[in-house]
Amino acid sequence: MKPDLSPPLLEARDLERRFDMPRTFFGPKRTLHAVNGVNLSVKRGETLALVGESGSGKTTLARMLLGLLAPTAGQVIFGGVPLAGQDRIATARRIQPIFQDPYSSLNPRKTIESIISLPLRVHRVGDTASQAKAVRDMMEHVGLPARLANVTPNQLSGGQRQRVAIARALIIKPELVICDEPTSALDVSVQSQILNLLQDLQREFGLTYLLITHNLAVVEHIATRVAVLYLGRIVEETDTQSLFSNPRHPYSRALLDSVLTPEPGLGLPKDTLGVMSPGPMNPPSGCRFHPRCPARMEKCVQQAPARMTSAGSVIECHLYAGDANATLVPFPKKGS
Ligand code: SF4
Repeated sequence: MKPDLSPPLLEARDLERRFDMPRTFFGPKRTLHAVNGVNLSVKRGETLALVGESGSGKTTLARMLLGLLAPTAGQVIFGGVPLAGQDRIATARRIQPIFQDPYSSLNPRKTIESIISLPLRVHRVGDTASQAKAVRDMMEHVGLPARLANVTPNQLSGGQRQRVAIARALIIKPELVICDEPTSALDVSVQSQILNLLQDLQREFGLTYLLITHNLAVVEHIATRVAVLYLGRIVEETDTQSLFSNPRHPYSRALLDSVLTPEPGLGLPKDTLGVMSPGPMNPPSGCRFHPRCPARMEKCVQQAPARMTSAGSVIECHLYAGDANATLVPFPKKGS
C-alpha cells in the first residue's frame, strides 16, 4: 500500500495547556498540567478517536483544537495555517462541534428550524427562503421528519435532539467536525443509530471527524485511527484494528480490558491497575503511567519515555525503546 502523503487537515504541534489554580491557605501556587506536549494530525476524510479517562485532557485538547482556548505553548495548524492567526468566525464555519448533551446545547425556547438555521444566519448564508429549504433538506439527511420543524427541543426524544445538533453542525458544510462524546447521553438502543448516521453523513458530505470519547465500543464502531491520551500525553496512536487486535502500551491494554467488564465505557476499573489515576495537578515523575503500570521498570520512575514513530504508529513506553525504525517489541498479553 502506498503511503498517504497528503497534508493533514488538522495538526497539533507540541501543544500544551496549563492552568494556574488558586492557592490554598497555607499551600504554594499550584498548576494544573492539562495537556503536555501533544502532537497529532488528522487527515481529510478520516475519523480519529481521542480516548482516555476523565482527567486525561481530552476536553481541554478539544477546546484548543476548536480555537476556543489558547494553548500555553505549541500550535494548532488547520488547513496548513496556524489557527491562532485565522478569523474566529471563518474558522467556526470550517470546524463545527457536536457536544455530548444535546439537551443543554439546544436552546429550549427556539423551534427546531430556528436552531438548525442559526449557523446560516450567523454566517449570512442565503436568504430566508433558501435557509428554510436548507433546513428541510438537512432534516431529511439526518432522519428528522419535516413535521418537527416547528416544535421545541423538549418535545423530542434524546436521539432526535442529537439529530438536531448534528443537523445544526452540518448545515454550514464544515470540513472538520469535533464530536465530544456524541452518544454518551443517549440510551444504548439509540447510540448505534447515531453512530451509523454519523458514518453515513461522513460518506455523503466528505467529512473529517475528530471523536472525543472514553468509550472504546464507540471507537471500534466508527474510528479509523485512535490516539490514547493519558494525563495530557498521547501514549499510543495507531489504526483502530491494530489497537483492538494488539494494544501495545500497557495503558491501552488496561483500557481494552475494561471493555470486557460488565459496564464497559465507565473508564478504567481500579482493580485492573491497583491504584487510582494520579491527577493532572501533580503528575508523577518519569513515565506518568508508572504508579499504575504492571510492567513498570526502574527507569520508568525517573525517565520519561521518548515518543517513537514507526509505520504510522506512535508509542511512548520504555518497553519499545529504540529509534523511529526500531522493531517494536510486543508486550506479553495479560494471563499469557
Ligand atoms: Fe509502563 Fe514503563 Fe512503559 Fe510507562 S514506560 S508504560 S511505566 S513500562
